[in-house]
Amino acid sequence: MDFKSFHPPARTLMGPGPSDVNPRILEAMSRPTIGHLDPAFVGMMDEMKGLLQYAFQTANELTLSVSAPGSAGMETCFVNLLEPGDTAIVCQNGVFGGRMKENVERCGAKAVMVEDAWGQPVDPEKVEQALKANPEAKILAFVHAETSTGAASDVATLTRLGHEHGCLVIVDAVTSLGGIPLRVDDWSVDAIYSGSQKCLSCTPGLSPVSFSARAVETIRNRKTKVRSWFLDLNLVMSYWGGGTKRAYHHTAPINALYGLHEALVLLHEEGLEGAWARHNAMHLALRAGLESMGLRFLVPEASRLPQLNSVFVPEGIDEAAVRETLLRRYSLEIGAGLGALAGKVWRIGLMGYGASPRNVLFCLSAIEGVLAEMGVKAAHGGAIPAAQSVLRDQGYA
Ligand SMILES: *Cc1c(COP(=O)(O)O)cnc(C)c1O
Repeated sequence: MDFKSFHPPARTLMGPGPSDVNPRILEAMSRPTIGHLDPAFVGMMDEMKGLLQYAFQTANELTLSVSAPGSAGMETCFVNLLEPGDTAIVCQNGVFGGRMKENVERCGAKAVMVEDAWGQPVDPEKVEQALKANPEAKILAFVHAETSTGAASDVATLTRLGHEHGCLVIVDAVTSLGGIPLRVDDWSVDAIYSGSQKCLSCTPGLSPVSFSARAVETIRNRKTKVRSWFLDLNLVMSYWGGGTKRAYHHTAPINALYGLHEALVLLHEEGLEGAWARHNAMHLALRAGLESMGLRFLVPEASRLPQLNSVFVPEGIDEAAVRETLLRRYSLEIGAGLGALAGKVWRIGLMGYGASPRNVLFCLSAIEGVLAEMGVKAAHGGAIPAAQSVLRDQGYA
């Protein structure tokens, strides 16, 4: 066998993540590796904590990046806050609420499920009923931006309800961070986790997390040991929080953290409000183009995520063939539907660096060309003018 270096094809990533990585981030990741206890590296980590606090809009001391993907951030929240015999109320309106249930049960705790249809936001009234019916519940958990459908839920309202009933609140912000308004302190969220590869446009494999003082107190006062050694925050805190006295816990993924640092510097340069506005403007332009082709959105307008656009596949069209053609001919990746929505929707991501006029126009013209070829009558050249008109109105032309 003759083994050669791997050179991936250059793609445009407009699925549910990973998103297109800003070249500045890739360049940062190729800088020299240094020791994870090197004072220069420790200085970078301290700065990164401030950048993460800015991104989450929090003053929480325990704000750091877990050295593993978003799923590990989810697991960090559950394994540290739950003990065997506890009860957690888990909201499910897509794929990721189901993963939360798995986590709760593997902690030896009981999951009380609050279900909403896929494509709908979490219903606060159902959550209130569940909180009333389960006064022993210790945790309320839900997903802010459900990437499997494109629905946004109301963090402020749900968190207030959880607190009124004595719960700590865990929020999945993997797809929301950097894409839509998220204010951890104003909304009093207790535990939140995100991912590097969605609206932060970094490479996959890191999970920013943040914990309130109340959550930290709960973790410090546990009666049982955290069931995961690697994710036990009591141990991780002595590395991240130790200042110059950092104790060895695990070897930090040095170059990946250079990348996340650069991603957060980029977010800080643009400003959160700027990033949120850009995601919304690109969504409006994409939507105008998609609607001109007769494509309809899954999620009701009031709950739509700008960074994840689920549209129904037109009658009689083979959705997988469309995605395959887009990838082969244009090197463009869009997402398929999951679960009950498999074969019924496409999921088009506008995340971070990928939420750009260039990607919006490229994606629309590629989709329109393929659909026209497959006989979709509404796909006849209207998408680009419709999107351009919105881009002009939004100040992007
Ligand atoms: C992508 C995603 C995750 C999982 O993140 P990984 O980095 O793939 O482990 C969790 N929750 C939501 C809402 C996501 O979109």
